Amino acid sequence: MGYKMGEVKKIALIAHDNRKEALLNWVSENKEELSKHILCGTGTTSKLITETTGLEVKGFKSGPMGGDQQIGAAIVNGDIDIMIFFWDPLTSQPHDPDVKALLRIAVLYDVAVAMSKSSADFLLSSIKISEVYDRNVIDYYTRIRKDNF
Ligand code: PGA
Repeated sequence: MGYKMGEVKKIALIAHDNRKEALLNWVSENKEELSKHILCGTGTTSKLITETTGLEVKGFKSGPMGGDQQIGAAIVNGDIDIMIFFWDPLTSQPHDPDVKALLRIAVLYDVAVAMSKSSADFLLSSIKISEVYDRNVIDYYTRIRKDNF
């Protein structure tokens, strides 16, 4: 089953507290390109981005309050093409299980993911950022049929 990305991408922006400054700096540097796309994010991150840059970002709940799970559900619904997630590699989080679940769902639905500045730079500067693209989502039902019958 294909999930088509349009020329305008649906981009989720998330940062853990120790990584928020890095994400805000990256968003400010890339404001012009990001303004061409549809943005959403976890509660605090999206609020800070709007305050800092003026970009419109649809906010879900804060990450520890279920926002990561809401982003995951949005991926499942086909509402997110790209996820920029600056997670904190040095601090454990109260919602670590949600973070793990979100990363799994992102790979399952072949969402383009960047987790640091360099990967975010490479992703946003790809020529594919303004092209239609078919994501490759595993057809689960075909797969279980093949494995079991
Ligand atoms: P926040 O959530 O943007 O509400 O801080 C981020 C997260 O911890 O996933």
